[in-house]
Order: sequence, then structure tokens, then C-alpha cells
Amino acid sequence: MRTMESDVAIVTGGTRGIGLEIVRDLASHGVRTVFCGRDETVGREVQDVFEAEGLNTRFVQCDVAVGVDVERMVARTKEIYGPAGILVNNAGVNANFDATTMTEDEWDQFFAIDLKASWLTSKYVLPEMKERGSGSIINISSLHAFVTLEGFFPYAAAKSGLLGLTRSMALDYGAFNVRVNCVAPGFIRTRLSQSSIDRSEDKAAAEARMVAGVAMKRIGDPVEVANVVSFFASTDSSYVTGASLAVDGGLTARRAG
Ligand code: NDP
Repeated sequence: MRTMESDVAIVTGGTRGIGLEIVRDLASHGVRTVFCGRDETVGREVQDVFEAEGLNTRFVQCDVAVGVDVERMVARTKEIYGPAGILVNNAGVNANFDATTMTEDEWDQFFAIDLKASWLTSKYVLPEMKERGSGSIINISSLHAFVTLEGFFPYAAAKSGLLGLTRSMALDYGAFNVRVNCVAPGFIRTRLSQSSIDRSEDKAAAEARMVAGVAMKRIGDPVEVANVVSFFASTDSSYVTGASLAVDGGLTARRAG
């Protein structure tokens, strides 16, 4: 068992995939965890599963693209468990636009989720982290922050932006013992990666192409990302801030071509 930075956490997008396993792992370490998603039905179902597992979690419906929703979720967390000392900005969606046909509305909506939301949640948790002199924020970026693929515009731009956001906040809040780090998953088996596979007619070939460049020759499991997030959320990483760690089975270690 790790010693966690705080016994209260917020995980955005905790109802599925990577986020769900992050919530499960934090809660298994005794961290009382609020998690959100937009779909209330799914959220309540997942909450029931966690309760049946004996985990202390609470689902709060929230669209992280909406400032008032985020402010309300942070306030609700405080009412339920007290101020959050761990924040995991995990909620995210894919983007598969063409640069010439994407509309401004589509751009704004996408960046609101995949980049702006990580600032918004931080805006509301940082003041109390600063006051208490401790906190750990973990932003879930992507391999697309380092290398990308055709047809994923402008996903790489948002995920690269998270690296800059991480560095800036790490510098500005380091003196208050608030750490801000980034985890960059490669291909992880979730609804999101499945949607990329499903865009191809030959799904088996698409999956084979996906793992061809992965040193470990397999897609990762959400639990393998959650373990790394818990490391950053724990005192085991007490002198790590402004860092980003790839969890990609060696994908970004490869020189292209
Ligand atoms: P999933 O689609 O499986 O889950 C995404 C989660 O985020 C869901 O709980 C979803 O709930 C929630 N979510 C999405 N948009 C919002 C929103 N506007 N407000 C609140 N919650 C939201 O995705 P993954 O688990 O695969 O992805 C998690 C993170 O990991 C994302 O940031 C993604 O970019 C990143 N990532 C994933 C990789 C992969 O291979 N899977 C690779 C690299 C990075 P709901 O839809 O109900 O809102």
C-alpha cells in the first residue's frame, strides 16, 4: 500500500476506461474519491459497483467543459469529503477532424474538454491545496503529445497543451508543495481506443497496425495507467513535479521509419 498525498480525490471522467480504474485504485488505497462523467445513468451504475466492492466513492454528474459544473463539483466534493488534495484530470474525447472543414464551434467544444477543463478543475482546487501546503494534480495527456497519427487533428494540439499546462502550474505552485505531473498513455484498451479501431473496415488489421510499433507488442490495460497515476498521487513521488511519464509499452521509444 502506498501512502497517498491526501485522503480526498477528484477524478474527472471516472465512469469508464482509464478513469474508472484510477478511481478504483485510489479508493483501494483508502482515498475517498469523487468521480464525474456526463452520463448520469452510467455514473450511478459504476457507483453501485464501487459500493459493492466496499470502496468509498461518490459519483457527481459534471460536464468538465462547463465552468459552473466544475465549480459545483469541487464544492460538492468539499461538502461530502472535505477539500481534495488529489486531482486527476482524465476526462477526454478523441478528435478526428479535417483542418479545413472543422468549425470554430467544434474546435471550442473539443478544446474545452481536452485542454481547458484541466485548467478549470485546477482553478477551483488549487487555492485550498496552496493553503494546506500539499497537493498532487495529475493530467492525463497522450502519446499524441510527442508523436501523432494522420486523421487525429487537433487531438495532438490539445494533448501537447497539457504538457505546457503541467509545467507552468508545477513552477507556480511548487513552492507550496503542490505537485503537478502528466501521464501520457499509449494505446490502452478502452471505448476511446476501440473507436479508433472501429473507424477501419478491417478491425483486426487496424489493431495489428496499432501494436506494430509498440515494443511490448500489445495494447495496454487501464489498470497499468492507474498504477502510475497512483504513484504520482502518493508520497513515493514526493520530489517529482513538472514531469511527464509515458505509459505506452515503449511506443515512443521507437524512431519512425
Ligand atoms: P473513455 O472514452 O473510455 O472514457 C472517457 C471518460 O471521460 C468517460 O468517463 C466519459 O464519461 C468522460 N468524459 C468525456 N467527456 C467528458 C466531459 N465533457 N465531462 C465529463 N466527463 C467526460 O476514454 P479513455 O479511458 O480511453 O480515456 C481517458 C483519458 O485518457 C482521455 O483523456 C484520453 O484522451 C486519454 N488517453 C487514452 C488513450 C487510450 O488508448 N485509451 C491513449 C492516450 C490517452 P461521459 O462520456 O459519460 O462524459
